Amino acid sequence: MSDTPLFHADTLLPRDPATRKIARELYETVCGLPIVSPHGHTDARWFADNEAFRDPARLLIVPDHYVYRMLYSQGVPMEDLGVARVDGGPTESDPRKIWRLFAAHYHLFRATPTQLWFDYTLQNVFGITEPLSAQSADAIYDVIDAALKAPEFLPRALFERFGIEVLATTDCPLDDLRHHKAVRNSGWEGKVIPAYRPDLVVDPHAKGFVENVARLGDITGEDTATWQGYLAAHRVRRKFFAAMGATATDHGHPSAQTADLAQGEASALFAKALAGNCSADEAELFRAQMLSEMAAMSLEDGLVMQIHPGAYRNHNVCVFERFGADKGGDIPRRTDFVHALKPLLDRYGNEADLTIVLFTLDESAYGRELAPLAGHYPALKLGPPWWFHDSAEGMRRYRTMVSETAGFYNTVGFNDDTRAFLSIPARHDVARRMDCSFLAEMVGDHRIGREEAIEVAHDLAYGLAKAAYKL
Ligand SMILES: [Zn+2]
Repeated sequence: MSDTPLFHADTLLPRDPATRKIARELYETVCGLPIVSPHGHTDARWFADNEAFRDPARLLIVPDHYVYRMLYSQGVPMEDLGVARVDGGPTESDPRKIWRLFAAHYHLFRATPTQLWFDYTLQNVFGITEPLSAQSADAIYDVIDAALKAPEFLPRALFERFGIEVLATTDCPLDDLRHHKAVRNSGWEGKVIPAYRPDLVVDPHAKGFVENVARLGDITGEDTATWQGYLAAHRVRRKFFAAMGATATDHGHPSAQTADLAQGEASALFAKALAGNCSADEAELFRAQMLSEMAAMSLEDGLVMQIHPGAYRNHNVCVFERFGADKGGDIPRRTDFVHALKPLLDRYGNEADLTIVLFTLDESAYGRELAPLAGHYPALKLGPPWWFHDSAEGMRRYRTMVSETAGFYNTVGFNDDTRAFLSIPARHDVARRMDCSFLAEMVGDHRIGREEAIEVAHDLAYGLAKAAYKL
């Protein structure tokens, strides 16, 4: 038995005792607040079927690209971690073997948020006190495996135990949302809502774009062979998503480029996209135009718009060809916002009824571009640190670089953005600790009062996400 807890009560709180005391007091006021999760990638099927999670490896390792990108970087083949191959070829299927392999490499995660999240989960979800290692792997596996068979570890029970008030998934317009429907019709009170993520039907270079647009037409009864019919189909589908509880759209474009083409030009570009012969620049221009079209629709139907630009997707071609997308081979790139968003902002930037939440993987844009933009345009808000920057230091850099220009109230609270359901409480807890630490420093410097800090801490942990995403 180890004397040191896996996840210490003062984790991430300031070292200086006076500031730590203030941070603790603030943290005490927010640590038990419900979780609002307005953006993420969990599977609605879990909550529809409410079947037991199969085993520790398939729950905690196989779906988590943060986990296997690190092991892959150290030469561990992804097949050995049970990641499915595109060609259906053999991969490891014994969950205990996968778990042992992960445990033997657990030291690789030191300094990464993955270790914080994982230790938090082992301790606070499963009651484990022993550090994970090659030696403890089997015993910890057995504890988790046994727990997963118990009713209190079924997906809905965990959802309730985590205190999740609302959980948004991310869904393609072609999805029939059957699992969301099943959740709604089940009589269970848990709120699981979709988000409209149309990348596969707005990106001419997305896999199957032409067929996807045709299917969009079939589903909606609109003639998506025409530009006007295509836009109408989006309106129909957005309405359906909103009726299923969606309050937001999400756009994962390579850049933040927007455009404001004349309808004739947009229509001609769409025809070219449907003919399958867009150049890279034309595909970029079409996606850019679609961001502006989506903003126009958001102004009509009230869906909050999220833009997640700047990931160079599938940078590792070998991994992409062997395992498909979202396998840890995405790399951040430089992202321009000031010029890229100008066409959209010229049209819609002054609309106070429109909410566009901007995210970045390019931290150099926080102080120079994003905080000034979000601190000025009524339509813009700044999303929390994302993906590679969803970490303690990433949060500290974000608050430091953004707050003095954009304040707190042009930001939208925290997004866990995760596929790893069990890490949700850990991720929100890390954000709450970092925000309380930041506020405690401000109180210590007499930049804000204690009562103000308590109010802000509450808003950062809960109120802002609820308000920005209309939840
Ligand atoms: Zn996401």
